[in-house]
Amino acid sequence: MDCIFCKIVKDEIPTLKIYENSSVLAFLDVNPCSLGHTIIIPKKHYQKIEDIPEGEANELFSVITKLVKVIPGAVGTTDCNMGLNNGKLAGQEVPHVHFHIIPRFEGDKGSSIQGLVRMEVNKQKLPELAEKIKNEIGNTLNTEKTDEIRSDKKEVENTSSKNEKEENKPEETKEEQPTKSPEREWQEFDLELQNTPPDYSEAKKEEY
Ligand SMILES: [Zn+2]
Repeated sequence: MDCIFCKIVKDEIPTLKIYENSSVLAFLDVNPCSLGHTIIIPKKHYQKIEDIPEGEANELFSVITKLVKVIPGAVGTTDCNMGLNNGKLAGQEVPHVHFHIIPRFEGDKGSSIQGLVRMEVNKQKLPELAEKIKNEIGNTLNTEKTDEIRSDKKEVENTSSKNEKEENKPEETKEEQPTKSPEREWQEFDLELQNTPPDYSEAKKEEY
């Protein structure tokens, strides 16, 4: 995998590391939005947050919550924005999941997370949407539970429960079957469209 952050993990690209354990690495962003802007990554390569197995995600969040207690104070402030760009539509520039801690300062003229996008949304349809999402979450959890039971007890596959599982799948899942590999998709993502791409110098040019 030719990934900038994987190269940083393997020390093939120098970076200013501030914290490291067996599964997580944190380093200062090379193109900081503010003083102390920090990137936190799982050492294993995952593209998006939903790709990380639960145990590893917990380790990542554990480090993030530790670091946020220190970083703003270290740069002389109290507050910060935290988050990740999850997928290219959300502005993810490096296809290796990474969290940002961006310290905020009095008069820095920055915005909030809610300032990222402002779509016209029909508020009257929100209760309907809440119901839809709630059902889809329920279906997903039921599917996971069914899978657990199957693998635990090694039950013989039962045709009726298989059909039920298919019916419960959200329609979007069926429609969004990828027609190209994730790698190909990321190669097509044009970094030049981004306003402030991070500068990873030669490594970035090679990769994209
Ligand atoms: Zn990677």
